[in-house]
Amino acid sequence: SGSAVYRGRFAPSPTGPLHLGSLLAAVASYADARAQDGVWLLRIEDLDRPRLVSGAAVSIQRTLSTFGLEWDEPVLWQSTRLDAYDAALGQLQAQGLVYGCACSRTEIAAHAVHGIEGPIYPGTCRQGPPPGRQARSLRLMTNAEPILFQDRIQGHQGHAVSEAVGDFVVRRADGIHAYQLAVVVDDADQGITHVVRGADLLLSTPRQILLQRYLRLPTPIYAHVPLVLDEAGRKLSKSLAALPLDPNDPLPALHLVWRLLGQTPLSGAGSVRAFWREASAAWRIERVPRRLGLPTGACLPVK
Ligand code: GLU
Repeated sequence: SGSAVYRGRFAPSPTGPLHLGSLLAAVASYADARAQDGVWLLRIEDLDRPRLVSGAAVSIQRTLSTFGLEWDEPVLWQSTRLDAYDAALGQLQAQGLVYGCACSRTEIAAHAVHGIEGPIYPGTCRQGPPPGRQARSLRLMTNAEPILFQDRIQGHQGHAVSEAVGDFVVRRADGIHAYQLAVVVDDADQGITHVVRGADLLLSTPRQILLQRYLRLPTPIYAHVPLVLDEAGRKLSKSLAALPLDPNDPLPALHLVWRLLGQTPLSGAGSVRAFWREASAAWRIERVPRRLGLPTGACLPVK
């Protein structure tokens, strides 16, 4: 369906069932794709084996289906893509852009300045691991060039990666390819033109754009939807509202998410099918708020 002008995706990690916060991102991504007569894909980000929860991927797919979010091509499983990630690492290696790092988390924490997301790696192993030490992870050389982008919801964003996070891990000590690398390779291979996802990934985007530049891959257009916070301003995942969605009663959650996304309420949407028929025509990304809190007393459609 649709032209190849717009290709969007939803890329959940199967670490648990879909909750209201992840549904918000999925609905925004799906509505945006359908509104532009685009293609919408599902990618299961199942690289982080220690965090996988058995049955979660199946449960996510079932919930998406009952909520009317239909993907247009076969699901892409990241666990089948290791060769592509190794090839990208090879390209970076050939450019001298990655190096082996022997440092442990504790060692880094002891020496590093705090950045936007934890300690900024001080570059200890840039010239090679200290004598007698084995490299464990692979890090990407970053630089001080500001990586700026225009987010469709969050506006002007960006930072210099070397100053905000430092040289970051592209292959972990346990041999697992890092999310930042895999997401860039897959977005490019799937021809993704538009990324709509949760604002928890806003600070990752400059790292991903840096990787796209190093690998000479196109940069998609980004939109980061606000995180659902509870009344205390905590991330939803830390609160009761992170309970799984009720797959037997999708409409209340769809309507709530639609309202949280700042959209005009849909009048006649009494079935999931009718909801999406109306929603695809009514979607206006410029109405999505940058931030949101749950309206007090909101009745969460969770079980
Ligand atoms: N798998 C990531 C997550 O669930 C999202 C990746 C993305 O949308 O870029 O947090």
